[in-house]
Amino acid sequence: MLSKCNVLLSVFLLVGTSYAASAVAGFRDISWSPAKITTGSPCLFRVEMSVTPLSLTGTWQGHAVTFAPSTNRDTWYALAGVDLEVVPGNYPLELLATLPQGAVLREQRTVVVARAKFLTETLHVPQRFVEPSPEARQHIEADQQLKHAAFAHEAPAAEWSGNFRPPIDTAVSEGFGTRRTFNGKLASIHRGLDYHAAPGTPVRAANSGEVVLAHELFYEGNCVVIDHGLGFMTIYMHLSQLEVSEGQQVEKGQEIGLSGATGRATGPHLHVAARWQGAYLDPAQLWTLRMPALR
Ligand SMILES: [Zn+2]
Repeated sequence: MLSKCNVLLSVFLLVGTSYAASAVAGFRDISWSPAKITTGSPCLFRVEMSVTPLSLTGTWQGHAVTFAPSTNRDTWYALAGVDLEVVPGNYPLELLATLPQGAVLREQRTVVVARAKFLTETLHVPQRFVEPSPEARQHIEADQQLKHAAFAHEAPAAEWSGNFRPPIDTAVSEGFGTRRTFNGKLASIHRGLDYHAAPGTPVRAANSGEVVLAHELFYEGNCVVIDHGLGFMTIYMHLSQLEVSEGQQVEKGQEIGLSGATGRATGPHLHVAARWQGAYLDPAQLWTLRMPALR
């Protein structure tokens, strides 16, 4: 009850000269899941409104956040996240609701970001650095442009609905965030989740969205990127076969390709990544988030 009173007291109207006290209630409830957000967490922000805004936007860790309304438009959701390299601490979630008459309501919450425990893998065997050939370098540069264009895509509305699901039913072979160190120096961070996958295992879309990349890349191999809207994407790598093409709409659970070992892979497996506005998030946590149906 106390927190709700604080909400009412701290809400203020920027535009508009006269209003009744009840008209500024605005934000009824603000919450997020997971309840404990850590570095690398995807997070679902949920805002319940007592008025129906035209739009609800926000700012989170320097990112612009656009909320999607539930079907009755009284509860608004944003799927966002915390990059795994963010410094743990307290971060503000700033909210801005625009009402039909142009009035603007603002509210803010402090969100604690805790440090996630990532495994560290120490490489004992010297890893030979293979210098890419001139042809490979050309390939890698062309890939950068393709990826840049794909990641710049942003479906203007949420295309996901309901829970995200793992793209494959097999066991995880390497978790998210593993830090590989060599001679005490950080060599790489695993920005995705690896699944054991015999070559040819069907790989399915984690949620609905638009395919913004379906292409063979030097490191990623045959790779699919799905834009789920409002800056949230999932990425599937090392496929032996692509079964979708760029621009295609896919439904959750739809087969998008077959697993394989293409690109720079040590063996057959599926690497899946979750990306929000450039931040890489733990897919395993994404599967456990309880997501609302938006249509
Ligand atoms: Zn991987």
